[in-house]
Amino acid sequence: MSELAYPYEAPASQALFDRAEAVTPGGVNSPVRAFRAVGGTPRFMVSGTGPYLTDADGREYVDLVCSWGPMILGHAHPEVIAAVQDAVARGTSFGTPGEGEVALAEEMIARVEPLEQVRLVSSGTEATMSAIRLARGFTQRSKVIKFAGCYHGHVDSLLAAAGSGVATFALPDTPGVTGAQAGDTIVLPYNDIDAVHAAFAAHPGEIACVITEASPGNMGVVSPMPGFNEGLKGACHANGALYISDEVMTGFRTSRAGWYGIDGVRPDLMTFGKVMGGGFPAAAFGGRADVMAHLAPAGPVYQAGTLSGNPVATAAGLAQLRLLDDAAYGKVNAVSTQIQSLVSEALTKEGVTHTLQSASNMFSVFFTDRAVRNYEEARVQESFRFTAFFHAMLAGGVYLPPSSFETWFVSTAHDERAVQRIADALPAAARAAAEATA
Ligand SMILES: *Cc1c(COP(=O)(O)O)cnc(C)c1O
Repeated sequence: MSELAYPYEAPASQALFDRAEAVTPGGVNSPVRAFRAVGGTPRFMVSGTGPYLTDADGREYVDLVCSWGPMILGHAHPEVIAAVQDAVARGTSFGTPGEGEVALAEEMIARVEPLEQVRLVSSGTEATMSAIRLARGFTQRSKVIKFAGCYHGHVDSLLAAAGSGVATFALPDTPGVTGAQAGDTIVLPYNDIDAVHAAFAAHPGEIACVITEASPGNMGVVSPMPGFNEGLKGACHANGALYISDEVMTGFRTSRAGWYGIDGVRPDLMTFGKVMGGGFPAAAFGGRADVMAHLAPAGPVYQAGTLSGNPVATAAGLAQLRLLDDAAYGKVNAVSTQIQSLVSEALTKEGVTHTLQSASNMFSVFFTDRAVRNYEEARVQESFRFTAFFHAMLAGGVYLPPSSFETWFVSTAHDERAVQRIADALPAAARAAAEATA
């Protein structure tokens, strides 16, 4: 898409994007950053502080992406930065065990009751990939059930009907994933427990695990219907399979104990990332001690990482988690509710059909008139209205996720001034959404 279609675009970002496209496919290191779903020039950010990001052209935005969730205390939180500086000064990687990784594991286990042991990795993708391998090794079965619209990172076997960037790009089966890799994956509609029972009945003794987002945020926010997660756990246990709850997005974001802290359904294995890394590459999987005992070197299932438990990343994650007390969650939840109301009011005022869905402080807007319970329903929205809305918000100094299939995130740093900036940008954006044509 030409930048000429967006007259308020940023020349410095465009110049950087031109350089980037010469050396990196599509100019980005993660597809959704390229703005392909909404068009225009991706903003190259140079700094962040509190709820704000500043781009290469010197424009400041209220950030409603928060690095896709991790920055729950806002950007450059002084205590997190101090912990990082302290760690960096002592060296950046040793390739040996260190106390920081133990302390981070202890903090996670203290917060999330089903976590008896954890293994640290460097990305959410690694966490889910490793959890699936462990589930297969533990059960000695090969098949995996996942849900359409749930994204678990770019794990080969899980890139079937995934949400997030894959939803935007309509690549339900990406080239490069072989039939053999996807062949053991059973993709079912989300929130459909009958389909889960039918799959177990059709494949007796073959299903190693069910993996699900604890509360999905990669097809927009679509919460589990009452009893769905409990039903999944029951179906797994009745059939000798493991229940894996992917809390990479929701973990330490939706409450002190993540989504588990809200629905209390006890998984066999869980995966984490995003918030627990404090803005650094740190992620984890963990759960039942008897299952985790199958991991090398304690057990036979191999899993490793040169930078796993990195001292700088674990220092950042630990500092962030220690600041996330009940008061912090109260603050994030309150400002989220406030912003949700403002968005809904502005769209309603302009007569824009929409459904705002939330899961604790995570939320997203669907440009459709009915509740969205699964990926099929998420896909029928009028995404062209989001495109117009997105660009008008950007022009008004508010940075939204550049796709209508993504969750909006806020932080403890989103104060009255930031909320006012959002409120000021909304009327024009709602009008743009109302006037948009397909
Ligand atoms: C972001 C995400 C992942 C992947 O994490 P990366 O660190 O991007 O590899 C996995 N699962 C869920 C639910 C996520 O939101």
